[in-house]
Amino acid sequence: MELNSPIVIDDTTLRDGEQTAGVVFSLDEKIRIARLLDEIGVGEIECGIPAMGRDEQLSIRRLVDLGLKARLITWNRAVVADIEASLATGVKAVDISLSVSDIHIEKKLGKSRSWVKEQLKVALGFAKQHDLYVSIGGEDASRADLDFLVELMDIARAEGGDRFRFCDTLGILDPFATYDKVTYLADRVALDLEVHTHNDLGMATANAIAGLRAGARFVNTTVNGLGERAGNAALEEVVMALKHACAVDPGIDTHRFVELSRLVGQASCRPVPEWKAVVGEKVFSHESGLHTDGVLKFPGNYEGFDPAEVGLANHLVVGKHSGSHGLKQRLKDLGLDPEQLDTSRLLEKVRNCSQHLKRALTDDELLQLGGDASCVA
Ligand SMILES: [Zn+2]
Repeated sequence: MELNSPIVIDDTTLRDGEQTAGVVFSLDEKIRIARLLDEIGVGEIECGIPAMGRDEQLSIRRLVDLGLKARLITWNRAVVADIEASLATGVKAVDISLSVSDIHIEKKLGKSRSWVKEQLKVALGFAKQHDLYVSIGGEDASRADLDFLVELMDIARAEGGDRFRFCDTLGILDPFATYDKVTYLADRVALDLEVHTHNDLGMATANAIAGLRAGARFVNTTVNGLGERAGNAALEEVVMALKHACAVDPGIDTHRFVELSRLVGQASCRPVPEWKAVVGEKVFSHESGLHTDGVLKFPGNYEGFDPAEVGLANHLVVGKHSGSHGLKQRLKDLGLDPEQLDTSRLLEKVRNCSQHLKRALTDDELLQLGGDASCVA
């Protein structure tokens, strides 16, 4: 199936990412993150919630003043005061969020579907009077009645709305359900669709890709998958999945993904796990004899894409699962001549030590073992 190109990445690290419980970015960090997102080619940056107050508005104004190529968009409730606060920052695009599931409408708001429709008309009308680009955000859309969503999208389209954001706010869909629901909407209303997915069941990236395959053209991401609860779809995962699983190039310079990931990891005080998909420090480490041997012959044997594509490098780790090829290569890398050593005996020592230490050996430990019979432990 064809994806609806060109795909636009709307990265919300600075909004949904910062909304993560306990995460706060400084203005300087926001500027650095926005600049880097812009430099790598992200088309849209959701940069905050002006209704939160003066500080937030000032920081958004500073981002507007950077004159980035990326479109800046703010998050708003469907109330005129929120949109006025956005206008004051100088942004030209807003997401207007409405609760669209009956659960939220009845149990959170104590209102009715007709009240939601009225809110939409008033807020959207106000935003369009001020020439804003408007995304209508369907909060909890994944649990909403699909025909009610169609009604809302029809209103949005008639009143000049530019797109509808389908939110799996609680992260409860699987990719098949996401695909079916987004297809249902795409088939009925000629309005751009965006998918906003959460990772509560570990499927945020898969659901984002499913939504794009179903016809959405916009996708919300965050760097490192930062976001409410278990987080959002990770920018680096969505982009690399598009490139390598879907053969679609969303036009992002991926070489700086690790740099971006570390910047956001530091700014959010959420260090990136070593095994984090795409950008984890150790996702291109090889230890097992079979894999190491395969990688030494041809990296593509055991690497789905070139680590340099995201700013990483592969490395061989020596430990319990090592084989002789990997050990010899590592020794060479460290400046030793494997021919001068009894490598089969050394391999046995490496395996014993690794078992004892419950980890791979460091280079120093390997060097020590190479020249000394005793286990470093
Ligand atoms: Zn969200």
